[in-house]
Amino acid sequence: MPADLVVRGGLVVSHDSTTRCDIAVRDGKVTELGLGLGAGIEEIDASGLVVLPGLVDPHVHLRDPGMTEKEDFHFGTRAAAAGGVTTVMDMPNTVPPVATAEIFAAKLETVRAKAHVDFGLYGMLGQDNDGEIAGIAELGGLGLKLFMGQTTGDNPCPDDAAIFKGLREACKAGIVVGVHAENDRVLRLLASELRASGRTDPIAHLESRPAFVEHEAMTRIFTLARAAGTRLHIHHISTAGGLDLLRAARQTGQDVSGEVLVAHLLLDDSAYDRYGNLIKLNPPIRPARDVEALWSGLDRAEIDVIATDHAPHTIEEQRRDDVWAAPGGFIGVETMLPLMLTEVARGRLSLERLVSCCAWRPAQIWNIADRKGHLGIGADADFNLVELDVESTIEDQRLHSKHPISPYNGWTTKGLVRATYLRGMPIAKDGQVLGDPRGEFVTSRAWRRARAGGLD
Ligand SMILES: [Zn+2]
Repeated sequence: MPADLVVRGGLVVSHDSTTRCDIAVRDGKVTELGLGLGAGIEEIDASGLVVLPGLVDPHVHLRDPGMTEKEDFHFGTRAAAAGGVTTVMDMPNTVPPVATAEIFAAKLETVRAKAHVDFGLYGMLGQDNDGEIAGIAELGGLGLKLFMGQTTGDNPCPDDAAIFKGLREACKAGIVVGVHAENDRVLRLLASELRASGRTDPIAHLESRPAFVEHEAMTRIFTLARAAGTRLHIHHISTAGGLDLLRAARQTGQDVSGEVLVAHLLLDDSAYDRYGNLIKLNPPIRPARDVEALWSGLDRAEIDVIATDHAPHTIEEQRRDDVWAAPGGFIGVETMLPLMLTEVARGRLSLERLVSCCAWRPAQIWNIADRKGHLGIGADADFNLVELDVESTIEDQRLHSKHPISPYNGWTTKGLVRATYLRGMPIAKDGQVLGDPRGEFVTSRAWRRARAGGLD
């Protein structure tokens, strides 16, 4: 029987190798790899192109439900599709916050028909919701998010006892806890002092969240998670010292992975002059020495994941002049791949490291690597066809988010995503999104096996 689709003659990149080979796809899955495969019902000539696994972005805020004036699942997943991201994991600080199994189920119902790419959902590790964590895992939650520091939605950060109870329950449920590691009380103190002194400029935000605010929270969460036995992921590590703490925790045998954001790799504090509050971010854009440390951490493979923290707001919010009134975060899911391919062209990152950090490791960490993050036999046929040497310019008006306003507007990129496929179906071509929403809810391998009556 012929394959549904054969992708022929491309240079196929995985987290640890690059090989010229054909890919056969049947029923949305990779069924054969090799040169000279038999004819498929459909054929793609990929000679001269690089074939990358669809990206897995474990850190997006699609604002749905409850803040859909900023973004929603339709717009946000169209942006992902156009940018070569075929799986997104959506954060739980939507409205209401995803702190109960009931809210998780309602969110899933609200968003699932709007998804243009596959998606996973997080629950929240909040104040005294430890009784809900098993239920959230039961419904297919890929993990929990713990906000130790204030962010969009302004949900109260749980106290240490609540954190510890949540960590214990997450350990029992077998799910990973991802952490926004900043000391909430200290950053609020510093912000109120700066505000009282009359500061309203963008740098005041950076000064309100100095490196030690990140270090204290990381140190505390490492200690609590070690005691609870919980698997940890540290989102958006932003400082040289944060990276040192990650390395030290690993050396003690702690089960922890680390993430950096595209923005923390590409922007330093000199960018506040040019972009103002548009690049207000939690944790903030840091001095160049921190940026250099993050790049070295990537080089030494100490960092597992590069994510976007796609965090949309309305144009009016993004243009506010007073730093304290401006929101944190900005869009990014559509621009990650072209920007990271540009770093590959500059020699700062190999294609294999790009695939490792933007697809393979996130799939492994959230236990979906049997389907996502690579193009091995049996995996979902999620892939990008990329032309490496072509230059392009990022333009706000071509982006797909509800409010396309990006600091990368006008940036030249090298490496063009020609087409994106989700489970063998074309979902974007030359920056245009194709077809109706066909994204599916993604659950972990352990969850699916437990439902099937097997053990993981
Ligand atoms: Zn975030």
